[in-house]
Amino acid sequence: MTNHLFSLIRSRIPAPGKNFIETPEGRTLSYAELVEGAGRYANALVTLGVRPGDRVAVQVEKSVAALLVYLACVRAGAVFLPLNTAYTIAELEYFIGDAEPTVVVCDPAKREGISAIAKKAGVKAVETLDPRGEGSLANKASAQPAAFDDVPRAADGLAAILYTSGTTGRSKGAMLSHENLASNSLALVDYWRFTATDVLLHALPIYHTHGLFVATNVSLFAGGSMLFLPKFDPDMVIGLLPRATAMMGVPTFYTRLLQHPGLTREATKHMRLFVSGSAPLLAETHREWQARTGHAILERYGMTETNMNTSNPYDGDRVAGTVGFPLPGVELRVADPESGRILPQGEIGVIEVKGPNVFRGYWRMPDKTAAEFRADGFFITGDLGRIDERGYVHIVGRGKDLIITGGFNVYPKEIEGEIDAIPGVIESAVIGVPHPDFGEGVTAVVVRKPDAALDERAVLAALEGKLAKFKQPKRVFFVDDLPRNTMGKVQKNILRDTHKDLYTR
Ligand code: AMP
Repeated sequence: MTNHLFSLIRSRIPAPGKNFIETPEGRTLSYAELVEGAGRYANALVTLGVRPGDRVAVQVEKSVAALLVYLACVRAGAVFLPLNTAYTIAELEYFIGDAEPTVVVCDPAKREGISAIAKKAGVKAVETLDPRGEGSLANKASAQPAAFDDVPRAADGLAAILYTSGTTGRSKGAMLSHENLASNSLALVDYWRFTATDVLLHALPIYHTHGLFVATNVSLFAGGSMLFLPKFDPDMVIGLLPRATAMMGVPTFYTRLLQHPGLTREATKHMRLFVSGSAPLLAETHREWQARTGHAILERYGMTETNMNTSNPYDGDRVAGTVGFPLPGVELRVADPESGRILPQGEIGVIEVKGPNVFRGYWRMPDKTAAEFRADGFFITGDLGRIDERGYVHIVGRGKDLIITGGFNVYPKEIEGEIDAIPGVIESAVIGVPHPDFGEGVTAVVVRKPDAALDERAVLAALEGKLAKFKQPKRVFFVDDLPRNTMGKVQKNILRDTHKDLYTR
């Protein structure tokens, strides 16, 4: 048996001397150095007591070394467990207690705090890596040989656990197998036409599926290379676009780049592909981007548990406001959330998916896992959507964001679309707030342009006649910015909490 994921990665290396990574400071890492570096880290982890199947929890700033730790885990048959750098010590206590990792790798500044909680969870070693990729683990790795015999792993062997962002209840650890990751990367390389000549501008965090698996694994599986930025910085991105061929971003990358005077046709003429995902891209952003650069952003849809499910086509219409077609090998259907009955084309329901991309279940939560799969193996995503007559999938929001007012279902996206079309509005979020008569009252939170003379009454007047009475917001509030998490997702739970007593006080 081979190591399923790493042997595929190895087999696709175009030439050992080829560059895989270049950083803005001009540091480079070739494919040979990548394999060797991962080998040294794998030896270091084994010396620290990591055995096949053990978890290695990693909460560090983005660095090339952090990617080497990921690949070291894969080669050692261990389970890579990246953690959002924003998590506090109190939050880490839950993750470390739940995952029981053998080794925790953290920023030097957090070592002391983490050591205390790691001890309780039976962690064997707490090691460090700083933003430059230096620290106690790097020192241990550099003292190790590069040669490492990859531990055999079957296709269904675990490669990683990624905790879901958990805006409702506790985060759950999604268990991802070698084949979950490999199959999705292969599908995306093909669908998006990645080759060894591609240079991906990588500005995403690497503790999340988007930056870690979609961006990095697609580059590896294509034998391409990456311009590896420590974080998203519009100036830096604009400066590097002429050397890149592709970029993957969350919608906020695109809205922020649109505010940059350096974004021109000329600056993007070397690019062949801009991909957006992790949160809905406003149709307006799609249009503005195309007008400014000539490129149609390709929007795709996925989640931690499923990797990527759908994508707009490479050739053919990339339709703004849709997430395209199911990827090859992925089955997708829309069902009634309650009964599970499969709905006819065009109707709104919960999106369910099945395929080699879909995770193996939630870590140590068999009941939660069972509750989110149908008997025929489809995973219930919790996203509400519909499939249009051309087969394009549309997402209308998360199931938990659905508003039920006076017994009627209201899909926030429909109302947000109407509000966003009002002159003077930048964007909006529509939420349901407890209401004594209606159960929930439709409530809008709006960001307006700085010079817009727009108030609550004007918004409500503009919606008159556009939306059925029950869909119209009962109240409209204005804010400077919508609360977003690091992946650009609007945190509606925060908005709901802010306004929870609105109709009941
Ligand atoms: P995560 O597990 O953090 O990747 O979040 C996955 C969720 O992000 C999905 O279940 C969707 O609700 C949302 N999402 C991802 N991509 C898109 C997209 N292109 N449009 C709308 N929502 C998206």
